[in-house]
Amino acid sequence: MNNFHTHTYRCKHAKGDVLDYIKMARLKNVGELGFSDHTPLPDGWWQDVRMGMDELEGYVNAVLEGRKQNPNMRILLGLECDYSPDYVSFFQEIKQRYQMDYLIGSIHAFPYEGESVGCFQEGKVFDYKMLKAYAESFVKAMQTGIFTFMAHPDLFCLSLNGWNPEALSVSAYILEAAKALDMPLEINCSGIKKSMDMGKFEIAYPKREFWELAAGFGVKGIVSSDAHTPESLTQNMDAGFYLQKEYQIEPFVL
Ligand SMILES: [Zn+2]
Ligand SMILES: [Zn+2]
Repeated sequence: MNNFHTHTYRCKHAKGDVLDYIKMARLKNVGELGFSDHTPLPDGWWQDVRMGMDELEGYVNAVLEGRKQNPNMRILLGLECDYSPDYVSFFQEIKQRYQMDYLIGSIHAFPYEGESVGCFQEGKVFDYKMLKAYAESFVKAMQTGIFTFMAHPDLFCLSLNGWNPEALSVSAYILEAAKALDMPLEINCSGIKKSMDMGKFEIAYPKREFWELAAGFGVKGIVSSDAHTPESLTQNMDAGFYLQKEYQIEPFVL
């Protein structure tokens, strides 16, 4: 078992540090562990859910120290990056400066009619125009070529009232681009607990209909827990592997 989407306390909404996750990885027989905390941003955007710029070096050193202390585990250094065209050169620069093994691209919010629309606004339902704006940002992020894989492509389903033809249309747009760009997509299992915590009747993501469609496009998938606590290091990943197997999504190996 591997997990390449792991956070630390530095992002202010996760618990535990590198060594706590490594300890759990040992207990759970996770042989490959990738750290991908939320990247600090130079303009301080959405600062309360990410580390500060002054914490980046400490984060890097913590992962490198964890790697040094655990030579029998494959430990990778990465970051989860909120895409905006303004940040692309910054992401490239820090990847090079700290010799990061990988970057995950994410769309948690996207520009829409001069505003930033988040995927986590409770009670908000995306109409077709908003869905298209989300997909547009997602595809632009993939086109930068700086990300190793893209996180939770189906995150927009948090803001849907069930699956609909508009959702299918923008999903096909994302999947077609992912296939053309050979960009792996993440089957993010954190959405299972999140959906249940939000009292949703259906699991918002990983969205079954999205992955069923993905199978037809032949995209690659990587199952992750998106752990924000050491105890949730492998939480609900069995459901992700089940989806991957059921729809014969080719596993991406990092
Ligand atoms: Zn997070
Ligand atoms: Zn995310």
